[in-house]
Amino acid sequence: MKKTHWFPYIPALLTAALWMTLSWSTAAFASSAMGIIDSGNGSQISGWAWNPSSPDTPVDVQIQIRRVSDNSLAAEQTVTADQYRDDLAANFQSNGCHAFIADIDWASLENTEYSVQAFSGGTPLSGRFYYKEGAYSKSPSTVPGVNGANLIPLGTFKTTGYCPCNSCSEGWGRHTSTGAIASSRHTIAVDPRVIPYGSQVMINGVVYTAEDRGGAVKSNHIDIFFDTHGESIAHGVRYESVYLVQR
Ligand SMILES: [Zn+2]
Repeated sequence: MKKTHWFPYIPALLTAALWMTLSWSTAAFASSAMGIIDSGNGSQISGWAWNPSSPDTPVDVQIQIRRVSDNSLAAEQTVTADQYRDDLAANFQSNGCHAFIADIDWASLENTEYSVQAFSGGTPLSGRFYYKEGAYSKSPSTVPGVNGANLIPLGTFKTTGYCPCNSCSEGWGRHTSTGAIASSRHTIAVDPRVIPYGSQVMINGVVYTAEDRGGAVKSNHIDIFFDTHGESIAHGVRYESVYLVQR
């Protein structure tokens, strides 16, 4: 979006509204399972999963442990989500037997940082954990694929997308305010009072460089550069966790 320009928002909002309508209406008839991986404690990973279209039939949950350094699979375990929990019985029209606990033998894995994700029938459950040296966290402490870098949480930012088109860049094309030529998966426009030029920040696992600004990009707002207008519209307006990369 970069400049003060209202039109790109309209398709994005319509898309968001349509997506929400579709996901809500299909959720009621979903044939796939839904659930969450909601805590880690010692060797135990717990959560719940169920299939609303077959509420009393337990579903299997696959736990995947991946190395943050290169996203390679370190361990995998399948458990059945069939344990009773009061909160599940109270909230679902079912027998309440949807909880699972997986026991991970962390001591058998090498000492590095891991991501913990769960799937049921190929569908990712919500929630993701990171594990490093005995402690669980909601965010990684190291950048995927970048050795020796630390991540400092900057909080939640509004993110939007822009591209070289006239509507987004008002004739600037790929020329940024710092003189750098913008490229995708690299350039972001920031409010330099909040994120100084040259800073590297990670959003959704991608490391960007702050090298542009925009008239409408103020305070906790980051405009992400894309090659095409379609991609910038598809990005829409999001609220995402942003980390400063410190090497
Ligand atoms: Zn554009």
